[in-house]
Amino acid sequence: MTSAGVVRNFVGGQFVESGELFDDINPVDGSVAARVHEADESIVDSAVRAARKALDGPWSRLGAPQRAALLRRIADVIEARFDEFVAAEVADTGKPVSLARQIDVARAAANFRAFADLVSATGLDSFLTELPDGRRALNYALRKPLGVVGVIVPWNLPLLLLTWKVAPALACGNTVVVKPSELTPATATLLAEVITEAGVPDGVYNVVHGFGAGSAGAHLTVHPGIDGITFTGESSTGSTIMAAVSPRVRPVSFELGGKNAAIVFADADLKRAVDTLTRSVFTNTGQVCLCTERVYVQRPVFDEVVAALAERAAALRLGRPEEAETTTGPLISTEHREKVLGYYRLAEETGAQAVVGGAVPRLGAGLDGGAWIEPTLWTGAGNDNRLLREEIFGPVAALVPFDTEDEAVALANDTSYGLAATVLTTDLDRGHRVAGRMRVGISWVNTWFLRDLRSPFGGSGLSGIGREGGEHSLHFYSEPTNVCVEL
Ligand code: NAD
Repeated sequence: MTSAGVVRNFVGGQFVESGELFDDINPVDGSVAARVHEADESIVDSAVRAARKALDGPWSRLGAPQRAALLRRIADVIEARFDEFVAAEVADTGKPVSLARQIDVARAAANFRAFADLVSATGLDSFLTELPDGRRALNYALRKPLGVVGVIVPWNLPLLLLTWKVAPALACGNTVVVKPSELTPATATLLAEVITEAGVPDGVYNVVHGFGAGSAGAHLTVHPGIDGITFTGESSTGSTIMAAVSPRVRPVSFELGGKNAAIVFADADLKRAVDTLTRSVFTNTGQVCLCTERVYVQRPVFDEVVAALAERAAALRLGRPEEAETTTGPLISTEHREKVLGYYRLAEETGAQAVVGGAVPRLGAGLDGGAWIEPTLWTGAGNDNRLLREEIFGPVAALVPFDTEDEAVALANDTSYGLAATVLTTDLDRGHRVAGRMRVGISWVNTWFLRDLRSPFGGSGLSGIGREGGEHSLHFYSEPTNVCVEL
């Protein structure tokens, strides 16, 4: 796929060049990781046609157990080629190798296994109807694939988020055209080799590379041959995609941005709370949709939590991904760093104080061409400050004191987003009570990022439409059809 650093599209089982290449930049040092063939309208069209053809081919005659077996084989091949996936993900994102190993690539294999298990075990509705006039009928539902699914994904957890959608889509018998982020094209392309090696028929999995507006992303969303779009990315992009598919009334599943809150009660185990916050604010350089960017701390422990979290932030080690002591990579790009730095400047202008960080670090050792930024915490900003209203998507959080439980709930829910929340307390009743009052798709108590893949995942408000995960994914990726037989 990436022979000599070249990334190609994958259509109908063949790697396809377009002649129009763009650079895939390694954000660690600004070097070119690969050159990528951008799919034009005709390549996107051939990918959709290949997917449509495959939908009605031998793939359509496989039952759920056979598809599940193929999914398990895909997971096996990912594991057999684990190091290649890690290297590709790290070259595109600059994230620490340890993170790519533990989260990105491990979860990719797990996604395929989880949906293989689920689709093998799940049943569908059946009802025996008995009418007053004595007639009887058997109703039973068949699960049909949605069809050709457009899968558009972002750069922060490229393989994890892609497989989170591709695995259930294939489990349900769909075919897919995938549009990875232009910033992280490698692992989706490597997955094409794996899927072929696992024995999935040609045309079931297709990859088109390029950008959003005016490029592969937009071509895919307006293509009449797409039966549904599953998208993870920014809320504003979700809104554009929704408008693009609306003339043809196609279903969408949207996992969008977040502005997630954590609430630390004075009764929390503070060491555990600070450990949890260190992960929830800074993992993946804060570039996880679920990361915490607002931390509400009950007043008696506010200063202590601020000081302890600042100490942990200052101890994070920025450095090359392959170095064992590195905890934190760069942002995805220098363009994204400009956006994040805009919020650092806003913090200064609006009188917030940087307790730690607030600048671009000088790392030397050939890294200064990279997209590095200091992990940063602010105090002194209120809920009306844009720092607490807009998704920044960096290693940043603002800390705000509160007095009562009701006040904390009101502050946390005062947002247009609704993805995730974290409640830190040793009071069991309070943990359940407050978690249940969060207007989000996922609430954690005394932890973060831990999740059963069978549980619902998604957000409310600007954070998305629909739920994926377990049975919820099967609902989106299939169309139950009821058959009614009079007996
Ligand atoms: P983005 O919206 O800029 O891009 C996501 C994908 O959409 C990319 O592949 C991009 O090329 C494509 N795209 C952009 N414009 C398009 C258009 N007009 N038509 C079709 N496709 C288009 O998002 P990003 O910057 O890559 O990712 C970061 C965002 O993703 C953050 O907002 C983050 O919160 C969100 N995210 C959400 C979740 C979740 O599960 N809720 C998970 C991860 C990331």
